[in-house]
Amino acid sequence: MNDAGSGGVVGRFAPSPTGLLHLGNAWSFFLAWMGARTSGGRVILRHEDIDPERSRQSWMDAIERDLTWLGLDWDEGPNHGPHGPYHQSLCRGLYDSAVDRLREHGLVYPCYCTRKELRVLAGAPHGASDGLGDAGAAYPGTCRHLTAEERAGKEAEGRRPSLRLLCPDDDVEVFDDLVLGRQEISLKSCGGDFALRRSDGVWAYQLAVVVDDMRMGVTQVVRGEDILLSTPRQLLLYRLLGGTPPAFAHIPLLCDEQGERLAKRHASLSLAALREQGCSPQAIVGEFARIAGLQETSAPTSPKRLADRIMHEGPFPWRSLPRGPIAVPGSAPQRWK
Ligand code: GLU
Ligand code: ZN
Repeated sequence: MNDAGSGGVVGRFAPSPTGLLHLGNAWSFFLAWMGARTSGGRVILRHEDIDPERSRQSWMDAIERDLTWLGLDWDEGPNHGPHGPYHQSLCRGLYDSAVDRLREHGLVYPCYCTRKELRVLAGAPHGASDGLGDAGAAYPGTCRHLTAEERAGKEAEGRRPSLRLLCPDDDVEVFDDLVLGRQEISLKSCGGDFALRRSDGVWAYQLAVVVDDMRMGVTQVVRGEDILLSTPRQLLLYRLLGGTPPAFAHIPLLCDEQGERLAKRHASLSLAALREQGCSPQAIVGEFARIAGLQETSAPTSPKRLADRIMHEGPFPWRSLPRGPIAVPGSAPQRWK
């Protein structure tokens, strides 16, 4: 694993510009920023606009505006810096060549299964949770060993394949999470062979994020606990592509009073809505700092002021974060005015 090194942590914000930033995004970007800044390190902003159907320039502009409002800055990207491009939509050639390298290991194969077929195979009724978080239903390996004729037959039916990575059946990835401690997770439990490219040609998150974090020299990845099962898949890709993995901090999620993870549909908790209601960014940061165990109360503060204090107290205290989801009551914004 990479460590801080003499130049400090290289952290990143990697938003998907498919909507306004909400409080949950802000919480993880706050911690990503703190992890980097308290080590004297750098922050990169990369727009993960990999899905052209869902991404918009106006969301990217709004994300930059809202990060700045909260007091979170960055040193590189999205329009200049030594590791560009900082938009995934401009990196398709890089993802192509990464897949060529994986092909050399004989580990890439076309998969002709439709989502519906996979759901049926997994025995999951439509819309049911598969219990794998973001991993999706476990892939049973149907297309792993199709013959050339079988492939030609599928193509003749007009099916367009996705591309999957053949994951060794017994692969277990071990890593030390900064928050959760030692993790030992089998690729099988993450869903087995995973997609590198969708059947519509869109590159998969797993591949894009590894290619970009690698080429940008990212040494610390801070993200929600809901992505934990992506990490073993990404570690395998790092190994196959010859990269050094970053350190990972999987942080507890903010959720509503019903225990639902905060997401874009909680429109009243978007940073833009909070700003419009008259909330102060320092009050929000003060609340984050209390939740993270960085200060006793939610006294308003700024990321910069906090970082200046904490950086003299030793390494960033990841283990002070609470475990499990953190409920944000609907009335919380009243306190932030
Ligand atoms: N674009 C991804 C997201 O917003 C990034 C996840 C990650 O930090 O790796 O969920
Ligand atoms: Zn298949």
